[in-house]
Amino acid sequence: MTNALSRGVGRLEEGTGDAGPKPIAFLDGGCTCGAVRYRLHGRPMFVQCCHCHRCQRETGSAFVISAAIEADRVALMSGKPQPVSVLAPSGRPHDVYRCPACQVALWGEFGRRGVLLFVRVGTLDDPAALPPDAHIFTSSKLPWVTLPPDVPAFEAYFDREKVWPAASLARRRAIGE
Ligand SMILES: [Zn+2]
Ligand SMILES: [Zn+2]
Repeated sequence: MTNALSRGVGRLEEGTGDAGPKPIAFLDGGCTCGAVRYRLHGRPMFVQCCHCHRCQRETGSAFVISAAIEADRVALMSGKPQPVSVLAPSGRPHDVYRCPACQVALWGEFGRRGVLLFVRVGTLDDPAALPPDAHIFTSSKLPWVTLPPDVPAFEAYFDREKVWPAASLARRRAIGE
């Protein structure tokens, strides 16, 4: 456990061999300068890898990996990310929370209800802990990115009711989203 903790990942003891992802006690992350540190309590509801051009432009990279998780499961350990408002293509307000010092984007929030965050998986100390559950907007995926055959991929968005696990849909409904 000591090694895992030092990497900012808290894994629970393995269960009884039930199918599905292993439980996670917590995951730590932060910005580049170290001013903002946060801890996710438990596994997110869903992790998606977005290949839309907007995500590519925002990061100057090939895609953005986002973990949907209840805001009250995201604990700030230090620093205070500041919202930068952009307009989502849907017209909903989209606030991207950035470190005020180094401007790294830590998570986004849609609609300003403050209950559901989309944490940027690349800011975790161990980004490999949360592989994507789905790839979206693959129509603008960069041609040299090869997707794994065993992960659902969608040319645009998907029907959440059909793609998210039932337990995650229940969690989302519980926060009124
Ligand atoms: Zn920073
Ligand atoms: Zn996107």
